[in-house]
Amino acid sequence: MRTYLINEIFYSLQGEGVRTGSANVFVRFARCNQQCTVASHGFDCDTDFQEGQRMTIPQIVERCRQLAPQCHWIVLTGGEPALQVDRPFIDGLHEAGYKLAIETNGTVALPDGLDWITVSPKTENENIRQRRADEVKYVRAQGQPIPDNVIEADHWLISPAFEGDRLCPETLAWCIELVKRQPRWRLSVQMHKLWRIP
Ligand code: SF4
Repeated sequence: MRTYLINEIFYSLQGEGVRTGSANVFVRFARCNQQCTVASHGFDCDTDFQEGQRMTIPQIVERCRQLAPQCHWIVLTGGEPALQVDRPFIDGLHEAGYKLAIETNGTVALPDGLDWITVSPKTENENIRQRRADEVKYVRAQGQPIPDNVIEADHWLISPAFEGDRLCPETLAWCIELVKRQPRWRLSVQMHKLWRIP
């Protein structure tokens, strides 16, 4: 049976994007095809996703049900979940009664069937393969402009980059200014870091 390399599964509130504040089980996939650092991207990757444990779909479903039998939304995150998420995974989780949101850097085209797609580009536009989403979100450090958006999405979000768990006031002020200048975009702060939840 196919297995997926999973870094962690936990129950928490979505802290960013349009679905902020909603309860979800988070399935964090191991591995990523990008290496975001201050030097290369203006901000450091904030997740530890290298290690993982191989799990089948029934094992993932069982763990999600153990954690929160009352919750029917799962967020697929990473690392880069699009490196592993396939149609059998989506169908298996749907058959188990779950709706699926995904947070991807957009470098891999997603299979059909996901219920909510967040693309947060971390590369040049020509490398973006997933060009349709519910929301597009750019993480911006102080002084970084908004690139031309090639993602077709209902919601366009600017997320100020944190330094660890700290949101630098200058970065926040920069992102507020970006949104005021280009009001098609909206500010999305990583509230889970301020709420001190995973
Ligand atoms: S794309 Fe996301 S998960 Fe991958 S290294 Fe960059 S910030 Fe981290």
